[in-house]
Amino acid sequence: METTRDLDYPTYDVVVVGGGAAGLSGALALGRARRRVLVLDAGEPRNAPAHGVHGYLGREGIPPSDLLAIARAEVEGYGVRVQTARVRTARPWDRPGTGFVVTSDDGHEVEARRLLVATGLVDDLPDLFGVREHWGSGVLHCPYCHGWEVRDRVLVVVATSGLAAHQALLWRQWTDRVTLVADPALAPPPGDTDRERLEARGVIVVDAPVEAVEGEPGAVRGVRLADGRLLEAEAVVVAGRMRARADVLADLGVTPEEVERAGVLLGSQVPTGPMGATSVPGVWVAGNVADMVAQVVVAAGAGLQAGAGINADLVEEETAAAVATARAKRFEQPWWDERYTAHDAVWSGHVNPQLAAEAADLTPGRALDVGAGEGADALWLASRGWQVTALDFSTVALRRAADRAAAEGLEHRIEWRRADVRGWEPGEQRWDLVTSQFLHLPDGGMVDVVRRLAGAVSPGGTLLVVGHHPDDLGTGLRHGRREWLFTPEDLLPALDPEQWKVEVAEVRARAETRHGHDAATVGDSVLRARRRT
Ligand SMILES: Cc1cc2nc3c(=O)[nH]c(=O)nc-3n(C[C@H](O)[C@H](O)[C@H](O)COP(=O)(O)OP(=O)(O)OC[C@H]3O[C@@H](n4cnc5c(N)ncnc54)[C@H](O)[C@@H]3O)c2cc1C
Repeated sequence: METTRDLDYPTYDVVVVGGGAAGLSGALALGRARRRVLVLDAGEPRNAPAHGVHGYLGREGIPPSDLLAIARAEVEGYGVRVQTARVRTARPWDRPGTGFVVTSDDGHEVEARRLLVATGLVDDLPDLFGVREHWGSGVLHCPYCHGWEVRDRVLVVVATSGLAAHQALLWRQWTDRVTLVADPALAPPPGDTDRERLEARGVIVVDAPVEAVEGEPGAVRGVRLADGRLLEAEAVVVAGRMRARADVLADLGVTPEEVERAGVLLGSQVPTGPMGATSVPGVWVAGNVADMVAQVVVAAGAGLQAGAGINADLVEEETAAAVATARAKRFEQPWWDERYTAHDAVWSGHVNPQLAAEAADLTPGRALDVGAGEGADALWLASRGWQVTALDFSTVALRRAADRAAAEGLEHRIEWRRADVRGWEPGEQRWDLVTSQFLHLPDGGMVDVVRRLAGAVSPGGTLLVVGHHPDDLGTGLRHGRREWLFTPEDLLPALDPEQWKVEVAEVRARAETRHGHDAATVGDSVLRARRRT
């Protein structure tokens, strides 16, 4: 099998299979939603034999081919591609995520993230000579499509299903010259109740074997009976079975269901959920393939809805992907380097208040500052006599911090170390104070970090971890998710009580300023613990 990819559009957002009213209407919604759309159409709409499309508000009576030509031009105006092709099959692609490979009869393949199948239905016509020849002109099935055009004319309804009496009574609305011919070889004859109802409405019932529908091209003459009589008619009415044209869906595991009414099998259609979604994610259906009684305007409406449903589904997928990407970036070095590069100073340059409060009375020794950023805490500690190791993964921040240390004459008191704390191990080194101020990680990652930091504290030393409390999200000053922030209690599982005495585990209120004004009262989660000796 040949595999060719369209070079301009290696992957379409949506491939629409079937370019009738439903498919083109879906394509219109999707084209206007700025989606890359390809319509593949075999060019055989169900109503092709009819002279006009009736019941289509605004375009009443327009020839079917004219309506589709207008529709094609409209969708192409929004960048949708419409190609003549018969699709043979579709299968899930073998890449991650939802998507499909669509194969045409000629072996051409295209890829699409979503599928809209609007292939219509097949009218399985009664096996009666002349029916196919006159189908859509002299042989009719739908009074809403053709009733007006044959009003007051002579009609013969050939009973081809158990609903023939109902059908004859319906057509009687348009003309009082209706005959129902009942051939037991074609359908069960009407019962007594139906005969009484038909008689009351003036419908003549003829019980006789039928041989053929007779006439010239474009004009029926009547129904020839097996006994040689001709039941003259200006139009003949039959009922076929309406079978969903769903072969394309078979390899995807979407199968049509049979539809019955009053115990009579009407045909089949593909079951759908809201807006035409099928049971297979990424696959939508619209029009007659999913709704056998849908007329053109209804098929178009279903297509429009399916188009909107598909677009919404793609928006969901794209949003989830954007969140995953943004989240992955946010906790990585390039994102932080970019952030520090974009601003002369990201932080205030002052020591963090909880560090100042907790470390003020400690005897200076060796301190490890994790997530040191632009170095304000490290500088403050150094200025108070601590020998500091300052750790961060942003080279931009560390360079800025080192410059400031040099400018303040504190470079000999601080070692700047580039490391990602998530994989960092203290080795043999130990510090009297290990501090982490406002370092946050997703997926509960801070518990693991605190465990690592705890391993770096000397016996008798202090571990101080401070972060934003989750309730701060309500202030509008914090962004992100609840699980990126932490309470003091969230971190406790990292500390073995036999080795650690928790001295402070509390939330401290603090006024946070923006542009020189108090913006809100926020809560700092403070955990201070001493390593037992
Ligand atoms: C004789 C007749 C007269 C009618 N008159 C009226 C009327 O006056 N008013 C009215 O509202 N309704 C009328 N209808 C009903 C009307 O035909 C349907 O409502 C309408 O066609 C449904 O639109 P659709 O898009 O679902 O299917 P269709 O119009 O049948 O379009 C399906 C398209 O999919 C294409 N296709 C199928 N399989 C494939 C494939 N594997 N690969 C690529 N393309 C494929 C087909 O070639 C076709 O172009 C009439 C029906 C008949 C039979």
